[in-house]
Amino acid sequence: MTSSSTEPTPAAAPGPPPGAGDDAFLSVRDLYVHFHTEDGTVKAVDGLSFDLPRGRTLGIVGESGSGKSVTNLAVLGLHDPRHTTVRGHIRLAGQELTGAPERTLEKLRGNTMAMIFQDSLTALSPYYTVGRQIAEPYRKHTGASRREARRRAVEMLAKVGIPEAGRRVDDYPHQFSGGMRQRAMIAMALVNNPDLLIADEPTTALDVTVQAQILDLLQDLQREFGSAIILITHDLGVVAEVADDLLVMYAGRAVERGPVREVLREPRHPYTWGLLDSMPRLTGAPDAPLTPIPGAPPSLLSPPAGCPFHPRCAFTAEAGPDRCAGERPSLPPEPSAGGRGAACHLTAEQRRNLRRSR
Ligand code: ADP
Ligand code: MG
Repeated sequence: MTSSSTEPTPAAAPGPPPGAGDDAFLSVRDLYVHFHTEDGTVKAVDGLSFDLPRGRTLGIVGESGSGKSVTNLAVLGLHDPRHTTVRGHIRLAGQELTGAPERTLEKLRGNTMAMIFQDSLTALSPYYTVGRQIAEPYRKHTGASRREARRRAVEMLAKVGIPEAGRRVDDYPHQFSGGMRQRAMIAMALVNNPDLLIADEPTTALDVTVQAQILDLLQDLQREFGSAIILITHDLGVVAEVADDLLVMYAGRAVERGPVREVLREPRHPYTWGLLDSMPRLTGAPDAPLTPIPGAPPSLLSPPAGCPFHPRCAFTAEAGPDRCAGERPSLPPEPSAGGRGAACHLTAEQRRNLRRSR
């Protein structure tokens, strides 16, 4: 059978499936992140599962609002429990993080796991020098002296391409340009060589040369320390170059996943087809026209039943409109099996025919 199978996944045996937790450094299962707002419950992440082994990079793509940042903030335990329900499992090196005490998470953040945020202003404090904000977590983590930690901060600033790092280390964030602040935050995230690095559109604001430099840094980190990396990006060129595996998200769910080359070469989900046509690529003609996906993502206050993409999908006639609107497609196989999958009711043959005629 193909991945279009709608048979329910067999009931899981007690405990994690074989393989999960062994080779997956980060294992996310059935994650739900729901925000309680005045307007109702925003289902920002709605049943998401993925695995990430050490030494590998998982690319996450999806339109704005698909739940990429919310997922990764949940991994770091950064949602406000007063307004947010986080359900499911997030295991890091076998340790359950959902529901873990804030003390535990705080210790892990900045040491074992670190995040490069989309917006550097949320990560840097205006009240301390840039150097101090890089040196302090290093001192805490290693017990290094102030002088040693300062030296490390200068080294990190130089690594991310800050000119005259020895002088700029004493600047405050507002004395840095936006691009420099972004780089300072990257230095901060990398200072303790995290085992898990989450990079949320880390290079969006940077020029191409610096972008390449930062991506090299991430790859150095991975080579040297076997770090696992999650890279959220809008840039398919970056994905193709840096990621091993790809997760395509839509309306808080995974609609497709697999080894990056396979997904890019032969995407299976109509949403992925549309997304790839709408995103810039490094390869291919530089001014090839980008085609936006018609329509807009659904409201996460009341997402559509069935496949969340069906109101925008051009292929529901083939797959069976009632099924698309009524039956939520699953995404086999288990992420721990590492295989490809697409959450779509089209059969493999229908997909092949449609691809050919596109
Ligand atoms: P993206 O894939 O662009 O990173 P996000 O993960 O930031 O998307 O957001 C997913 C959805 O969750 C969006 O609809 C966003 O408006 C909503 N959302 C994010 N944070 C909150 C919050 N604190 N309260 C309510 N809704 C939120
Ligand atoms: Mg985001």
